[in-house]
Amino acid sequence: MIIFIIENLHERGGGNLEVKILIVDDSKLIRSLLKTTLESELNCIIDEAKDGEEALFRAKLGGHDLIILDIFLPDVLGINLINQLIDIEKDWVPIIMITSAEDKNLLKEALEKGAIDYIRKPFDDVEILARVKAALRTKKLYNDLKEANEALKEMAITDDLTKLYNRRYVMSILGIEFRRSKRYKTPLSIIIGDIDRFKNINDRFGHLMGDEVLKNCARIIKENIREIDIAGRYGGEEFLVILPNTPLDGAVIVAERLRCKVSQYSIEVPCEEKPIRITMSFGVCSYPEAKIETEEDMLKAADEALYISKQESRNQTTFYIHGRFITIPKEAIRSEA
Ligand code: GH3
Ligand code: MG
Ligand code: MG
Repeated sequence: MIIFIIENLHERGGGNLEVKILIVDDSKLIRSLLKTTLESELNCIIDEAKDGEEALFRAKLGGHDLIILDIFLPDVLGINLINQLIDIEKDWVPIIMITSAEDKNLLKEALEKGAIDYIRKPFDDVEILARVKAALRTKKLYNDLKEANEALKEMAITDDLTKLYNRRYVMSILGIEFRRSKRYKTPLSIIIGDIDRFKNINDRFGHLMGDEVLKNCARIIKENIREIDIAGRYGGEEFLVILPNTPLDGAVIVAERLRCKVSQYSIEVPCEEKPIRITMSFGVCSYPEAKIETEEDMLKAADEALYISKQESRNQTTFYIHGRFITIPKEAIRSEA
């Protein structure tokens, strides 16, 4: 997985992508000289600022790939702007200082504060372009690594087949939500759903068809819960939905909605005259509730509730309340998504 991402980084290394550069200098002539030099070889958009205030305003709008910053500005010392500019820009941005030969100590300070390079006055076009291109390569590498890092993070928490969260992640969220619920005395509910007679689907129509059914059940679950609810693949054909800030009655409505939506779904299968219908069974548990002290207790009660739904006639919802399990008669609750 890591190798794949690094290979992709290499592939994306070339090209003449458009870059956005901010030039901060009080001299209109210097800004114009730099602009002409940069535009002669780079595919770039140039932003200009004549002082610190304007530079911060431009940086706030963000999206710069490079800032070229004069060490002296009318309203502020350029080196005192470095950290502010880096903070204000949405992403890390390289800064090249403009200096003259006498500014050695200030230059040293600028590099210590986070500037990555400098260009000296009087300008030499070849040197300017070489330093700017090097800084842009560093910025590109930073962007690529950030993107790869985000992709890796995403992969680490996602179930490959269903694209829901994986078991490890959904369990860690349950732990966090349970502690939050206990601390702030807010209700928390969970639903465990399991596809009915799923083994038959694999056996009769093959694993690929089984996978297709799993993906579609995951999609139906995701489409019928709120954005702040968390759905994950809990096991082979089992799903866990976490409903923060939701008491039992709300959670039962959600479970019944999911059950109805899944039962309305059918899938075309080769060599079968009619599309096959899929159903799921559900178990629901909420907190606070008698004998529920930990998130493991919640999972255990929801799992037992699910087991009872299976024993009843499948395609049912059972919930845990006051130490008892209650199965909802089919079609008792009609709810819209
Ligand atoms: P019940 O109604 O009691 O839940 O019966 P069931 O057949 O759904 O349950 P059982 O636990 O007997 O079988 C679950 C099956 O799910 C067995 C396993 O091979 C299958 N399975 C688990 N993960 C995957 C997967 O990623 N893809 C496919 N195609 N099948 C899977
Ligand atoms: Mg099953
Ligand atoms: Mg199962």
